[in-house]
Amino acid sequence: MLLGPPGAGKGTQAQIIAGRLGVPAISTGDIFRANVSGQTELGVKAKVYMDAGDLVPDEVTVAMVKDRLAEPDAKAGFLLDGFPRTIAQAEQLRGSLEQLGQHLDRVLELVVEEDELVRRLSGRRMLVDGEWVQRDDDKPETVRRRLEVYREQTAPLSGFYEGEGLLSRIDAIGSIEEVTDRVMTALGTPGRPGDS
Ligand code: ADP
Repeated sequence: MLLGPPGAGKGTQAQIIAGRLGVPAISTGDIFRANVSGQTELGVKAKVYMDAGDLVPDEVTVAMVKDRLAEPDAKAGFLLDGFPRTIAQAEQLRGSLEQLGQHLDRVLELVVEEDELVRRLSGRRMLVDGEWVQRDDDKPETVRRRLEVYREQTAPLSGFYEGEGLLSRIDAIGSIEEVTDRVMTALGTPGRPGDS
């Protein structure tokens, strides 16, 4: 599992690390965004919260992750990105994993100070249909709210998983490759030959 504030680089690292480990990266933010673009019922519901920088209610999110974890490609392992984000989600995740006969091996907290997060998020652009666009929730006022929500609702997960002996804190300042190397070292998994 990857834990860390918005802008810490979870999405980027999740793709690389999941690729190296040969497991799917399961990102609740990506699943929500796909539903928003597809204008599904879930997407319409989630968009209101996302645009405000608030968390989508647990009952929506937890059921969605539970379904995703039960898919065949997650049987041999998975990397969670952006979930859980509240202690209640973490507790429900524990129950879902027990039912599936799964468990968490490690929780990696990407640590970046708040000034740097604001800089990264306000400068972030994504390539959509050949054009660079700003994510709706990367607007300054929404960024401030997301960071506040992180501090209040998500940051306590660090202590929660530390108490379970699962937490590794990773300094997430530096190049993408440097951060990936630190993560792989924390996982005790050497890079595969031929990987860049
Ligand atoms: P970031 O980590 O940069 O905030 P994400 O893509 O993970 O970006 O999340 C974007 C938004 O999607 C969040 O601000 C929130 O509204 C919603 N979201 C994502 N994951 C969850 C979750 N586990 N619980 C509730 N809401 C979530």
